[in-house]
Amino acid sequence: MEPREELLDVLRGEVADERVLEAVAAVPREAFVPAAARSAAYENRPLPIGEDQTISQPLVVARMCELLEIRPGDRVLDVGTGSGYHAAVLARLGARVTGIERHAALAEGARAALRAAGFADVEVRTGDGSRGLPDAAPFDAINVAAAGSERDLEALEAQLAPGGRLVAPIRTASGGQRLIVARRPAGGGPLTHERHERVRFVPLVREP
Ligand code: SAH
Repeated sequence: MEPREELLDVLRGEVADERVLEAVAAVPREAFVPAAARSAAYENRPLPIGEDQTISQPLVVARMCELLEIRPGDRVLDVGTGSGYHAAVLARLGARVTGIERHAALAEGARAALRAAGFADVEVRTGDGSRGLPDAAPFDAINVAAAGSERDLEALEAQLAPGGRLVAPIRTASGGQRLIVARRPAGGGPLTHERHERVRFVPLVREP
C-alpha cells in the first residue's frame, strides 16, 4: 500500500467524518514538511519544521477539523499556523482561513507552501495569535494548535460568532493536555465547554 493510503486507513479507524477524511486525503502533506523529512510525510506523527516547532500529527489535525464541524464558507482563524498544513486542510473543507504564527520564518514558509500546494487564498499573518484578530473577527471557527491554560483562550472565545466553535489543547492539572471545544450558542447565552482526548502540543507563547 502507498504511504498515503496507509495513513488514510489509520485515520478511518478514529475519524467518522467523511468530509474530513477526504480533505486529509487531498492535501499533500509532503509540501508542508522540510525536504529532509519528506520521506516520512505520510507517517502518523509530528515532524520537525524548524524553530523547535512541529507539523501536527495527521490524526490530531483530522480530529480537530471534525470537532470544529467546518462548513463551506465558514470564517476560520488558525492560531499557530506553523507549516501551514492544518490551515490547508481547513481550506480544503471550504473554510475561508486566516492563519497567525508568531515565528516570522515559519509564517513565511507557510505562505510559500500554501501557494505551492494551491491554497493561495489562505492569508498568514505574523504575531501573537492568543489575542485573536480583532480586525477580522468574528469567526465561525477558531483552531488553536498550541497548548495554554483556559484563561489564555478568553480573548479568542470573545471573537466567536453566534454558533461559533473553538478547539484547543489545554494543560490539565495532572500535567498533561486535553482537547477542549468551546461553543457560543447560536441563540445567545454563555459559552459551553466540552473535554475530549489527551494530546501533546507545543506551548502557546503569549507576548507580555
Ligand atoms: N498547525 C501547525 C502546527 C504547528 S505547531 C501545522 O499544521 O504545522 C504550533 C505552532 O504554534 C508553532 O509554530 C508555534 O510557533 C506557534 N505558536 C505558539 N504560540 C503562538 C502564539 N501565541 N501565536 C501564534 N503562534 C503561536
